[in-house]
Amino acid sequence: MKYLMLNHKMNLTEEEAIKYAKDFNEVKPNKCELVVFPSYLYINLFKGKNYSLGSQNVAIKDVGALTGEVAASQLNNMGCAYSIVGHSERREIIGEDDIEFINKINELISNNMTPVFCIGETLEAREKGNTYEVLEEEIVSVFGSLDKDSIKNIIIAYEPIWAIGTGLTPTNDDIDDAIVYIKGLVKDNYDTNIKVLYGGSVNDKNISTIDTIPSLDGYLVGGASLDIEKVNNMIKEIS
Ligand code: PEP
Repeated sequence: MKYLMLNHKMNLTEEEAIKYAKDFNEVKPNKCELVVFPSYLYINLFKGKNYSLGSQNVAIKDVGALTGEVAASQLNNMGCAYSIVGHSERREIIGEDDIEFINKINELISNNMTPVFCIGETLEAREKGNTYEVLEEEIVSVFGSLDKDSIKNIIIAYEPIWAIGTGLTPTNDDIDDAIVYIKGLVKDNYDTNIKVLYGGSVNDKNISTIDTIPSLDGYLVGGASLDIEKVNNMIKEIS
């Protein structure tokens, strides 16, 4: 079953989130495993049975003194089963680094949550032909410090940075090649079969084309996830 993961980022007012959550509870996931990552503020609104809940972030350490952060144990207690780690917005805008990703992943694993670890090349790296070097670097610098049992529980989201929120997407062949490369690298280095999602400007118009990619295990969707009609349309196209 493919994943459809919905990343709301900082969107929705309280009123919009209440309406969204009410409508979302009626969504039938059909053939996919549906996961929503709302703002922390609205996590409590999502109590439906047809989907799983995720957090967009997690603290680097467990409960206690870390002002402004939310611990994995608190998220788990609120029903979150997944958390995004290493999103390009956190890498580029906030400046998070590999040590933080390693700590976050360890926190999630020890609280029985699944990390959704995002990797992807910049446009500059792609144009220089360095896509695979970037992907390898981003994986090895984090996975090299994790134990094998943790790696087994990670889902990777391949998100080319130039495709996020831009309306641009790689060709199906390029996505397939990148996913096959990622899966091969993880298998060769850590003896684990890992699931890999694609993210970057997926919407209800292009998902049927992307869905034919043989190596794909699902999607991480930002912009199009905010519209329930688009979510329903995307679900219909997933095989
Ligand atoms: C994302 O932010 O992870 C993402 C894929 O966004 P969008 O779908 O808007 O490109």
